[in-house]
Amino acid sequence: MQQFEHLRAAELHCPRCRQLRPVRERLLLVLPYAELYEYRCTVCAMSLASREVKAPPLSGALPVAAIPPRPASGQPRSRPRPVRGLLR
Ligand SMILES: [Zn+2]
Repeated sequence: MQQFEHLRAAELHCPRCRQLRPVRERLLLVLPYAELYEYRCTVCAMSLASREVKAPPLSGALPVAAIPPRPASGQPRSRPRPVRGLLR
């Protein structure tokens, strides 16, 4: 069974099993600037590789002025009625 959503590290060579093994991604450490993942053999649980993922920039730091204030008067309460037969 193939899962194409998890293509990042499907199989790695495990020195203990001496063959390619499917690996499991595991969050190892959370740093202020990055997250450290490790890949373990799903058979013998040996750590085979690690990967550092840079933390995305903080999304909650948007300046308030970036959001324009919405005008309170959106639509006029009394809509002008279309006048028929006037333009002809
Ligand atoms: Zn193994």
